[in-house]
Order: sequence, then structure tokens, then C-alpha cells
Amino acid sequence: MLEGKVAIITGSSRGIGYSIAELFLSEKAKVVICGSKKDGVEKAREKLVNDGYEPENIFPLAINMSNPIEFKSFVQEVINKWGKIDILVNNAGITANVPFLESTREQFVKMFDINFFGVVDLTREVAKFMKENGGGSIINTSSMVGINGGRGQVDYASSKSAINGLTISLAKELGAYNIRVNAVAPGVVGTDMMRDSVNEQMKQALINMTPLHRMADPKDLAGAYLYLASDISSFTTGTIIKVDGGLMM
Ligand code: NAD
Repeated sequence: MLEGKVAIITGSSRGIGYSIAELFLSEKAKVVICGSKKDGVEKAREKLVNDGYEPENIFPLAINMSNPIEFKSFVQEVINKWGKIDILVNNAGITANVPFLESTREQFVKMFDINFFGVVDLTREVAKFMKENGGGSIINTSSMVGINGGRGQVDYASSKSAINGLTISLAKELGAYNIRVNAVAPGVVGTDMMRDSVNEQMKQALINMTPLHRMADPKDLAGAYLYLASDISSFTTGTIIKVDGGLMM
């Protein structure tokens, strides 16, 4: 479904992003594997190659989402290697668990720097190339808490609500250039982020509230991204797809 397409997936050194990369590679895309650390992206590349994915379709590049100065050269490196960018998955993110009354402005700034402003600045750089190239698909990773809110996660939930606003506004503005912009809102997914931020009791409570009665494996998420990245979703823009086992309804 993605033969001949070039995809950047931020936060693909592990977790949800890694599963998206696996599925895109199996659909014959060329994929830029990203993470905040060089050794992390190199390890991910090694693992993908060991699992049989074509080495020539994998380009590991570290990028720090809180350092927009890097973005121009990052995007240029991808253009130099593969000549275009068809798909941008803005998936990198951090979370935190701090009661609001104990939170600080600095903590909110750090959260928004990575989860929101990094997405804004990288998307601006990539969308310029997509416009020249006749279009593209941008997919943002939101969260159920971006719609429903999150106790003890006000900074994180607010950054994801901002991502939802960004998604629908960009869909309106960039549609003129045939650039589609959508988001995926996961529920509870078994990754390092979830293990670091949700205790066992909370995890069980969330599973009990989920109609499908389990948490997601990262692979459960990847199909929604494939749909939005590929041409079969050619008339879909400005949507936020929930992939949460029915938790939010
Ligand atoms: P993870 O912690 O397993 O992976 C995070 C990825 O983001 C890694 O590749 C990491 O290198 C990258 N990253 C983190 N900080 C970065 C920075 N400053 N610069 C560049 N890259 C950075 O997390 P995950 O669970 O796979 O989360 C992926 C996305 O899904 C995030 O946006 C997260 O908010 C969202 N999400 C996760 C869950 C969940 O339950 N795990 C639920 C809803 C939404």
C-alpha cells in the first residue's frame, strides 16, 4: 500500500512508532526511523534489519524535538537521500504524572516544547516540501486524554488537546495543497511510556473500563496509521481516529 512512498516517523526507535515503522516497511515504504538518541535509532535499525526488513528502505536519524534549529538540516538530509517526503508521522512524545497544584510553568513549557511546538516546527518544514511535491499525509499522535482530560496529567493532556486543534486547523489550511492532516488518539498502550506513568492499580482500572478488556499492544495502533498514510484514505482529512478498545464513548 505504500510502495514508492517516503515516510518520516518521529519517535519510532521504540513503542508505537516502532510498530508503525514495521507495518510501513512491510508495505514497502522507505522509512526514516527517529528518536531522541543516535544509539536508540541505530539499535532500532539493527533490529528491523535482523527481522528481515530491507536495509535500503531504513534511514535512522536522531532528532531532538525540543531543538527546532536541527529541523531544517534534518528535513534536508531526508530530501538529499530520497528526494521527497510523502508521509510525516508526528509521534514522538513525553508524558508526566504531577498533580496540578504541585506543577510548575517550566514543566508545562518542557511538555509543550516536545509534544506541541516540536510538531508545529517540524510540520512547517516538511509541509513546504509536500506542497512542492503536490501533496502528502501528516498524521499526529494524540491521546484519549486530549479529548477526555487526564487527572494528574494536565500538562500532557493539554499538549494533546493542542495537537487536536492543530490537526483540524492544518487540515483546513493545507487541504489547498493536497496535504491531508489527521490524528490517531490511542487509549492505553503497553509501551515504556505507559509502564513509567501508570501504576498497576490504575492499569487494572483502565483495563476494567475498556470494552475490549485489555490494553493495546503497539501493533494494535499501526493499522490506523497505515490507513491514514496510504491513498485509500485520499478523501479523509481533519479526523481524529480513536484506537482505544472502546474506552472513550
Ligand atoms: P515511548 O516512550 O515508548 O516512545 C517515545 C518515542 O519518542 C521514543 O522513540 C523516543 O526516542 C521519542 N522521544 C521522546 N522524547 C523525544 C524528544 N525530545 N525528541 C525526539 N524524540 C523523542 O512512547 P509511546 O508510548 O510509544 O508513545 C508514542 C506516542 O503515543 C506519544 O506521542 C504518546 O504521547 C502517545 N500515546 C501513548 C499512549 C500509551 O499508552 N503508551 C497513549 C496515548 C498516546
